Amino acid sequence: MSLNDNIHQLINPHPLTRPDGTMARDIRGQLIYQPALLDQLATAIHTKGRDGAATSEPGVPINTRAIDLWRELDTDARNEEHERTGSMTGTLGSIIERWTREPRENHQDHLEHVTLDMADRIKNLLEPAPRRRKLRQPCPSCGEHWTLNGEGDREPCLTAGTHDPDGLLRHPHDYDVTCAACGAQWSGEALSDVVHGISAPQRDAMDMAG
Ligand SMILES: [Zn+2]
Repeated sequence: MSLNDNIHQLINPHPLTRPDGTMARDIRGQLIYQPALLDQLATAIHTKGRDGAATSEPGVPINTRAIDLWRELDTDARNEEHERTGSMTGTLGSIIERWTREPRENHQDHLEHVTLDMADRIKNLLEPAPRRRKLRQPCPSCGEHWTLNGEGDREPCLTAGTHDPDGLLRHPHDYDVTCAACGAQWSGEALSDVVHGISAPQRDAMDMAG
């Protein structure tokens, strides 16, 4: 991704990419566009996260993580712009747009990193890493079924990591299983030996988190 690519996805509508890397298309074969990342972040400020956890205070209709990120990006952009030109006027979007006309190569390289980082931070907020899948079976190591989560609620102690951090579903053989009660971990070969129902087709042994 070049500096202009990074800037483009931050401030302009751009084609939606599927997890397999291909461009999303509608039934007529037309490209499907998604809003500018800055606009997706602006929308997220007034939208509860899909796991409900993004809103840090109950009853507050603002996604505080999204507004915090917006402020961080705004501050970062103004600091960059002040270093670059001695000025920091304009909106966040207009400052970033001006970076497309930076003539100095070393500045372009720097801004390429800055804008890539901005895009990644927004994407991470919009698509948090998938939560772990809860398994409905006792831990083969300690025999426990349950553990208490941060809110004091009982939940299965045995969970499987089924996705990579970038959201791609792993092959069942590449899952990792951990027990929150005793800290035991399994992966690779040990997985199928110790925990039944992971690579076997008994999908009812699993329950999607949330
Ligand atoms: Zn255990």
